[in-house]
Amino acid sequence: MHRLTLAQIARGLAAKEFSSVELSEALLARIAELDPGLNSFITVTAEQALEQARAADARRAAGENGALLGAPIAHKDLFCTKGVRTSCASKILDDFVAPYDATVVERLAAAGCVSLGKLNMDEFAMGSASESSHYGPVRNPWNSECVPGGSSGGSAAAVAARLVPAATGSDTGGSIRQPAALTNLTGLKPTYGRVSRWGMIAYASSLDQGGPLARSAEDCALLLSAMAGFDPKDSTCVDQPVDDYLAALHRPLAGLRIGLPREYFGAGLDPRLSDAVMACVEELKKLGATVKEIGLPSMQHAIPAYYVIAPAEASSNLSRFDGVRFGYRCENPQSLEDLYKRSRGEGFGTEVKRRIMVGTYALSAGYYDAYYLKAQKIRRLIRSDFIGAFQEVDLILGPTTPNPAWKLGEKGDDPVAAYLEDIYTITANLAGIPGLSMPAGFVDGLPVGVQLLAPYFQEGRLLNVAHQYQQATDWHQRAPEGY
Ligand code: GLN
Repeated sequence: MHRLTLAQIARGLAAKEFSSVELSEALLARIAELDPGLNSFITVTAEQALEQARAADARRAAGENGALLGAPIAHKDLFCTKGVRTSCASKILDDFVAPYDATVVERLAAAGCVSLGKLNMDEFAMGSASESSHYGPVRNPWNSECVPGGSSGGSAAAVAARLVPAATGSDTGGSIRQPAALTNLTGLKPTYGRVSRWGMIAYASSLDQGGPLARSAEDCALLLSAMAGFDPKDSTCVDQPVDDYLAALHRPLAGLRIGLPREYFGAGLDPRLSDAVMACVEELKKLGATVKEIGLPSMQHAIPAYYVIAPAEASSNLSRFDGVRFGYRCENPQSLEDLYKRSRGEGFGTEVKRRIMVGTYALSAGYYDAYYLKAQKIRRLIRSDFIGAFQEVDLILGPTTPNPAWKLGEKGDDPVAAYLEDIYTITANLAGIPGLSMPAGFVDGLPVGVQLLAPYFQEGRLLNVAHQYQQATDWHQRAPEGY
């Protein structure tokens, strides 16, 4: 049963081949057996899951037939879940029980999804390896010596290991797409404003966007259909109708114009990944697509710009964790200043502190113009590059990451080496456009992801191309050995 995709589960539940309770029990048993080797869950909510599964079965018995009704999922632990610990993988929120559900959680629950628990991640979603968690690193089911990517690494590992058919994630600079690539999954970062951020603990508010990680584009379409849409509680959420993502899957690709940015295929890209990406391009050509080279010249400035803007926003967002209002408080504070200093000093991990320091510096008087403002100007140039490119092509394609999954600990004491892994993903967040990563082969037994980028609100096009590719290939169906 654990091998079923969400689409297959929907058919099985509708045909009464199994109930949501049976399915949820089977997956909870699998989590208990296999997750100690992966560390993908921070919290398993077995009792609540079975309660939700019973409710879903009752709704089906009463004649309801929604595609997600009774489907098990799990949430990245930065989505607030009412009555359940929401830690953001930080010591500072270790005992924080959210008083309300995030909009994404609420919408998926209303669609009938059963949440099995909360998934591990990099602390406050800062990272690319899921090693900075207060609850210990997550392992990649394809090779337990390797990282699963990050920051949504728990989501990726759990779905790749077939502990749960799909999960939520968040993507500030690649945190859905990069772990999807490193674990052979399909992951979608929607257009900024497509999915509500309400109740999603903020990292960098102008970049953060929630989205699905699953085993196929079809499953991502199912989830996004429930997640997307206007929410008056998030002032940046766009009031625009949600496309029919399931109908979009079936469009033929004839005439699709794909752009290959020359900057994506230069130095720094592992040539074996480049080969896999070009093989994917050949496959898409067979399906009717045409291909041309394009330029995204401002991409060379993306990493420095992102690593000013994201920490700047983080330093501001994380000021709310002060030992007073949320979570951890130091023992015996001697004064208010001592309370702030020690609660934050003891509560935050190294990477989070590094970002708060960098961000505070970049925003301080005298440096604001030199760093923050400059970075914002680069951001505008990156956006212009994409808008120009989309005059010529319908879709941009390239590798999701420059390298396959690396060994645990390998980049642990070299933050810049880890930041460089984000080169292909962060531009989509800086511009606000949607991006998807899909499985496209293997190198030394480790998965390779191809990234597709589309114009604003063209999530349907991304899912369409990925689905058509997945009808013609079987990379996405391969499972790691032992899972
Ligand atoms: N790796 C990037 C960072 O550390 C992106 C993380 C994310 O998307 N949440 O900021």
